[in-house]
Amino acid sequence: MSNRAIYPGTFDPITNGHIDIVARAARIFDHVIVAVAASTSKNTAFSTDERVQFARDTLAEYKNVEVQRFEGLLANFVRQWGANAVLRGLRAVSDFEYEFQLAGMNKHLVPEAETIFMPTRENYSYISSSLIREIASLGGDVSEFVHPIVRDALAERFASRNPKK
Ligand code: ADP
Repeated sequence: MSNRAIYPGTFDPITNGHIDIVARAARIFDHVIVAVAASTSKNTAFSTDERVQFARDTLAEYKNVEVQRFEGLLANFVRQWGANAVLRGLRAVSDFEYEFQLAGMNKHLVPEAETIFMPTRENYSYISSSLIREIASLGGDVSEFVHPIVRDALAERFASRNPKK
């Protein structure tokens, strides 16, 4: 039996914290599918196509990883791809309550898949996409936290707000 994990998220944009989770998961699972949520209640800074492209570009070196967009219910996507695991990263205790609830609901909706939590690497625990967007929008340097492709895209996105001195 081959083990397939779905790693779902908004990835707006993908950060080094996400990439680290994928890299570690790629060593455990036969196949990892990064599932980029298309329809999300969140107002995203980047379009679905952009978020998918950033993930594809930054994860290209991992041969057993693929990136797909998904719409609608995660449970349906998990079934459609024949996955037996849903992967989520945990940063802080504050992530836990929501993640635990989500895991319970997904177990109910798709009993054949298990949610696997992976703890963030210590020095990535304070990285979140929303914080990265905020820093970039204020002209801060995010190069330690994201891939250069993403850093450049963020700089371009917020260029009008941060005219060069
Ligand atoms: P969502 O909108 O589903 O929370 P995100 O793109 O914010 O989507 O996050 C996707 C997954 O990656 C979540 O499980 C989240 O906890 C995890 N994650 C986000 N940032 C980090 C990080 N710095 N380290 C480890 N996991 C992370």
